[in-house]
Amino acid sequence: MQYLDEQFWKRIKIWEDVSLENWQNWKWQIANRLTSLLPLRNVLNISKQEEIAFEKTADIFHFGTTPYYLSLIKDFKDRQNPIRKQIFPSLEELDEEVQKLGSLDPFLEDKMPSIQGITHRYPDRVLFRATNFCSVYCRHCMRKRMFLEEERARTKEEYEEMFEYIKKNKNIKEVLISGGDPLTLPNKKLEFILDNLYKIDHIDIIRIGSRELVVNPYRFFDERLLELFDRYDKVWIVTHFNHPDEVTDITKKAVKLILSTGTPVLNQTVLLKGINDDEKTIETLMRDLLRTKIKPYYLFFCDPVKGVLHFRTDLEKGIKIMDYLRGRLSGLGIPIYAVDLEGGLGKVPIFPQYLIEKGKSHATFRNFENKIVKIFF
Ligand code: SF4
Repeated sequence: MQYLDEQFWKRIKIWEDVSLENWQNWKWQIANRLTSLLPLRNVLNISKQEEIAFEKTADIFHFGTTPYYLSLIKDFKDRQNPIRKQIFPSLEELDEEVQKLGSLDPFLEDKMPSIQGITHRYPDRVLFRATNFCSVYCRHCMRKRMFLEEERARTKEEYEEMFEYIKKNKNIKEVLISGGDPLTLPNKKLEFILDNLYKIDHIDIIRIGSRELVVNPYRFFDERLLELFDRYDKVWIVTHFNHPDEVTDITKKAVKLILSTGTPVLNQTVLLKGINDDEKTIETLMRDLLRTKIKPYYLFFCDPVKGVLHFRTDLEKGIKIMDYLRGRLSGLGIPIYAVDLEGGLGKVPIFPQYLIEKGKSHATFRNFENKIVKIFF
């Protein structure tokens, strides 16, 4: 976890005059997003290679970050910094193999039979894509394709069609509002969405998938948003921390505010080569999440998205990490390691092997210390 100095942003020249009031305002963070290298040239020690990567990737995926997220980079000279690597383009994205292996929509979200904005993959759940805007562009994003279109929230009419679809399909119990990032929407629009979903009786859970807690935690300092969470008590937040440097004392404050409304917070991590693919980093991340009262939920094998596969580890790496966590970390902190199957065929969990063999009246297990234990029944 990073403990940030008071007014930590002032170490960065371009923000040295920004007041606490502005810095802590989530709208200021979005309005002052950085979308080009220009203001950063003097700060970030940009290499020639990075300059070329910025130029060459500009048409396929934008660069964008909130000032807060960028300011979490501990050492601006370090090109291997895990936050820098999540937002800075690299030439590896353009590598022929990386481009060839992936697809822009590996889970066929745009092709599922439903309507525009809704992906109905599992019988009891739908994905509700509320906007294609995010305050940060993550290089490993599984929905990179949507940023190629004009960034916008959906219109009222489009939302109404989406509500109608959910209303008609009574087997839908859970709606995952995602995007882009739905918590970048203004409160009024969010209220309109939540209000309409809340009125559909067969919906039990409204899950909001958002990275704002990671990249703009000040979003949750907004009392009006907290009132909405309090009122619409079917809401769960699912966020996306990938590295311990992203968890800060400000995260902790924000989570405390969310929890005060009775809204649970879960986390999904993506296993990313060169960013978090080692046992200690994942262990520290899971501990930090627990400290802030965020429940680790999934650890995903990196999705086969075009331009992302340089982040992919081998499958075995994740199994080794899961094996390492078992016995070192309480069950509360252990996520489910999973692969999302291409073609929209769903997620499958993968576990280290603990059951070694099983007979009619006995079973042999391996424990976390590799001790072999036989039990009889
Ligand atoms: S915040 Fe989420 S949807 Fe937006 S770019 Fe990052 S991973 Fe993709």
